[in-house]
Parts: sequence; structure tokens; C-alpha cells
Amino acid sequence: MTDRAFVAGNWKMNGSLSDIDTFSNALTARAADISCGLAVCVPFVYVARLAERLKGSDIATGGQDVATEIEPGAFTGEVSGTMLADCGATFTVVGHSERRAMYGETDDIVVAKTRAAIACGIQPIVCVGETLEEREADTVETVLKRQLGAVLDGCSDEELGRIVLAYEPVWAIGTGRSATPEQAQEIHAFLRSQIAERSDTLSRSLSIVYGGSVKPDNAEAIFAGDDVDGALVGGASLKADSFADIARAMP
Ligand code: PGA
Repeated sequence: MTDRAFVAGNWKMNGSLSDIDTFSNALTARAADISCGLAVCVPFVYVARLAERLKGSDIATGGQDVATEIEPGAFTGEVSGTMLADCGATFTVVGHSERRAMYGETDDIVVAKTRAAIACGIQPIVCVGETLEEREADTVETVLKRQLGAVLDGCSDEELGRIVLAYEPVWAIGTGRSATPEQAQEIHAFLRSQIAERSDTLSRSLSIVYGGSVKPDNAEAIFAGDDVDGALVGGASLKADSFADIARAMP
């Protein structure tokens, strides 16, 4: 296993306080033989509770978004990286396709959120990925170049050293239809080559995880790709059993 190995859960708008308690008890009991980095990204209101429950374990807590602003102020409904850190989070998802598609997050907003998270000591899990239409139109590399390029252009080398990149093809999210291991490896290698154009060192150290219908029964095959460093797991992260089984499949 490389230092890049990392599996994160993305609960989306799911869960309750009692689910947090049940999940954290079950996951900590199953974590002993998991050697990759592990994080669970939950709705903001549950971050403090999860971080408290995971205290003393190697499992990190994350949010699913972050404000572009760092200083407190009149930004109704927003949650800053400082607040996330105050509640015990060390990661946050940034630029998930659901936020890009449903809440109008542009590449520029994704860059601003990425930098704001880092400034607050939070590691952003930055998501990129093409839609089905973009894949069918053979524009996957163009789309990914644009999404990743914005982050590469907008961040310093030091900032880039703090990010985790998640390749999440939109057509594979929540559909039960994951990318094939070959498709995932091909795109991850492409993303790594784009990063290498900026810095070889960075391209060797940066974790690129795959997301989109990762389950215990397909994780091992997906993780076999040399450039696939782990997963961002949605539905299958809601149960500690399946999430732990996926993390255990990291070679
Ligand atoms: P899924 O979601 O595993 O349920 O497909 C992945 C994600 O959206 O991060």
C-alpha cells in the first residue's frame, strides 16, 4: 500500500445523531485491520458529534462543503473552514458534482472553496468528473482538463500538496453503474499526467481516488489500477460494514 491510499465516505444528506453513534461504534470496532487513510464526510450538523465519537481513532471526520469566506460575517447559511476545524473536521468534500449541477458551483467557486479550506487547515477532497453526455460526445479529457486546470492554476504548489483529488464520473454516481477498472485507471493516469505537467513530485504524492457506485464487490478490481489510490464512497459508506469492507480491499 502506498502513502496515497485513502478511502472517504460521503454521506450526502443522510443520517441522524443516532446513526452517527451506531456507525462510529461499528466502524471503530472494524478499523483495526484497515491500513489506508480513512475519513467520513457527514452533514455539517453531525460533524462535531462524529469527530467526538472518533476521537482517539485514526479515522478522520469531514464536511461536504465549505464557505469561500474565511472570516466570520454576514453569510447566512454558510459554514467556514474555521468552524469545521473547530468542530474537529480535518477534511471536506469540495466541488461534488451534485453541488456543481444543483447549486451552480463553477470552477472558480471550487477553486475559492479549495483555497479557503486549506487556509483553515482542512484538506479538501476536490471532485472532478464528466457527465454521460460529455462522455458520449468524447469530451472527457477536455472537461477534466478544464476542471482540474482551474484548480492547478488557482492554487500554489503548497496548497496543491494538501488536496485529495476525486475522479467521479457523474454517470456512475448513485446509479449502480461504476466505471470499469480500465476506465478508472485510464482517467486517473490522465489526471496524474496533467498534474505532472505542473510538478513531478506533486503527481507522485497526490492521492487520486475514484467515486461512483463503489461497493464491497467491485472495490478490489477498481483499486487494482496503479493510479487509483482509493475511493470516495457514497451509498455504501452509510453502513460501517460495507464501508470497512471497501477500505479493506485497498491493496
Ligand atoms: P455513490 O456516490 O457511491 O453512491 O455512487 C459517490 C459520491 O457521490 O461521492
